[in-house]
Amino acid sequence: SKMKAGLIWFNGQMVPQEEAKVSVLTHALHYGTSIFEGLRAYNTPQGPAIFRLQEHTERFFHSAKVMMFELPFSPEQINQAIQEVVRANGYTSCYIRPLAWMGAHTLGVNPLPNNPAEVMIAAWEWGTYLGEEAVRKGARLITSSWARFPANVMPGKAKVGGNYVNSALARVEAQQAGADEALLLDKEGFVAEGSGENIFFIRHGVLYAVEHSVNLMGITRDSVITIARDLGYEVREVRATRDQLYMADEVFMVGTAAEVTPVSYLDHRAIGTGKAGEHTMKIRAAYMDVVHGKNPKYAAWLTYVK
Ligand code: PMP
Repeated sequence: SKMKAGLIWFNGQMVPQEEAKVSVLTHALHYGTSIFEGLRAYNTPQGPAIFRLQEHTERFFHSAKVMMFELPFSPEQINQAIQEVVRANGYTSCYIRPLAWMGAHTLGVNPLPNNPAEVMIAAWEWGTYLGEEAVRKGARLITSSWARFPANVMPGKAKVGGNYVNSALARVEAQQAGADEALLLDKEGFVAEGSGENIFFIRHGVLYAVEHSVNLMGITRDSVITIARDLGYEVREVRATRDQLYMADEVFMVGTAAEVTPVSYLDHRAIGTGKAGEHTMKIRAAYMDVVHGKNPKYAAWLTYVK
């Protein structure tokens, strides 16, 4: 079954999904030369609100800068377009995907003759990324045989399409092994991130955020650190090994799609009790309150779609 995204903002125009088409000679299709974002809008008592719109748009433009893509729209135009996609489709909650890519001008490996980039923003209704059961019982992870790429191999701080070949290989490997998600290590063997999530763990009541190193600087990670400190947790950013995760009381993953998802097993070892952790679920509940506009302290993180 094909996904349904309704009206898509396509190079400045709102068009039905069937009309938002590109050429088979698109540079990005051949070489992964695209950048993207992932946001969520949530239903709140005052209507749908986009979570941390400014930060996502800023990262989108930073990704473009890394790739030297020229975007023919300003950050303010992209902010407005993101809101317009939610509004035009009448969603109360959705996942939003801005994408910019090198088009079909020329297929030499150098992408820049294809500047300016083409841009689209699509949105669709998307529930829990790793499934309801993963949230309730905790996700099962395996450490991938695919390492996360070092900083001099791929630009892991940018959300570049080509980076996600590494994520896709790890995710398929995990799925083939019967796991829900993959944990990727960096080339030194330290914990990096999930295929699309940052990693946290808890030991003796202290919350450890796996340091940025080669990872994407996740916006959910940043939000969770702030929210957890407000809840009274001591938060430390650390370089961690996989066996430190085995010995943790709790492990969880965070991301725009995955939100806050507990991890119950890593490499066939139960984490703590082998169930969704208590602290994890407390932090998850606080995060869900914030995104749903139920905590006025974080009003600045929400952009209401009027
Ligand atoms: N790491 C990777 C590789 C990701 O793709 C994502 C999802 N964007 C994350 C971490 C989490 O980032 P965020 O919280 O900004 O969604």
